[in-house]
Amino acid sequence: MWGETPTPSEPVNVRSLILVCCPYNSPPSNLHGFPNLCVDEGTHTKRSKNIMGYSFRVRHIANTSTAITDETKISLKRDVPNYPKYTLSQETVDYLKQPTFDIWHWEPNEMLSLLEHMYHELGLVEEFNINPIVLKRWLLCVQENYRNNPFHNFRHCFCVSQMMYGMIHLCKLWERMATEDLGILLTAAVCHDLDHPGYNNTYQINARTELAIRYNDISPLENHHCAVAFQILSNPETNIFANVDKDTFKRIRAGITMLILATDMARHAEIMESFKEKLTSGFNDRNKDHLDTLKMVLIKCCDISNEVRPMEVSEPWVDCLLEEYFNQSDREKMEGLPVAPFMDRDKVTKPTAQIGFIKFVLIPMFETVAKVFTQIDEVMVQPLKTAKDRYEEMKSVEEAQKQH
Ligand SMILES: [Zn+2]
Repeated sequence: MWGETPTPSEPVNVRSLILVCCPYNSPPSNLHGFPNLCVDEGTHTKRSKNIMGYSFRVRHIANTSTAITDETKISLKRDVPNYPKYTLSQETVDYLKQPTFDIWHWEPNEMLSLLEHMYHELGLVEEFNINPIVLKRWLLCVQENYRNNPFHNFRHCFCVSQMMYGMIHLCKLWERMATEDLGILLTAAVCHDLDHPGYNNTYQINARTELAIRYNDISPLENHHCAVAFQILSNPETNIFANVDKDTFKRIRAGITMLILATDMARHAEIMESFKEKLTSGFNDRNKDHLDTLKMVLIKCCDISNEVRPMEVSEPWVDCLLEEYFNQSDREKMEGLPVAPFMDRDKVTKPTAQIGFIKFVLIPMFETVAKVFTQIDEVMVQPLKTAKDRYEEMKSVEEAQKQH
């Protein structure tokens, strides 16, 4: 089998986990077969094992990770012949369209099958005439080029892509844009954090890393994610857009680049202002400029959408994010670089990290998008308000405990 299975540091009571894999020798037309995963869940569910195992990997990697080097690995260590055949139940494929989808439940290879399913289900394989084997190989290569950071890892890539897929369905985006645009949205989501080193742009710039120098301090990370995405697509074996004509490829490249670069939160106010202006003048989805701005806002929403998810799904992500932040601030302290208070383990707690972000960034952004797609209010804005209330309660409990 392929796909990295987390190895927990302490034994976990997962009694047995049997993967039923089929040899990969079926003709291309049968390649959208899916795996059969039989799990005898013991004391720990697969879900909690993923969270726990994950946490181990993170600690391990955090101790061994080094600064970015110039060598970007565009590797493909495993090829599709070992791709297990997965069977996704109707229940799973329906659930996959919901923002409530439990993203912790799936092993890396299962996430690959789910992503693969999205490309088939949205008609992207047909639209871009994608060779199904190239699709599998591309997804494998993308997975291998995400690092095992506490937060910015392949599961985050899956989360953002799954939320994009959910929003495409929730908002029936195919009624407003071409299939090509849906492909740009989903592919940008899949690639948006490729080879993220686990240290943000501020660190890159202050530490004068190779990336900051290469991109002149202008969105160094996002430029890098995008460059890695197109390095992968420059290899015919992993180019899902190999069969489109030159002009289509140019549009796809421009679209994906625009969307990945829009995920830099330093551009948040600029992008939201531009979107609000378009709403005031009357949003028109036949206007390319309007549609481009909407697409940028959509990927931004998906990128920071964890708090839209149910509490059991979203909360472990806060620990992952804080772990990544603390790694960075510890390193900044060691290297004598400025430390942002929101990353400082002496200043931030889970609720304080989330309350302001939900109140001033997430709710206003999703409310703005809800002006175009009213269904977003119930499905996304309401859960955000519930999450904010919960963190406020958590904060009062923390404060009360401090006083004792
Ligand atoms: Zn991201």
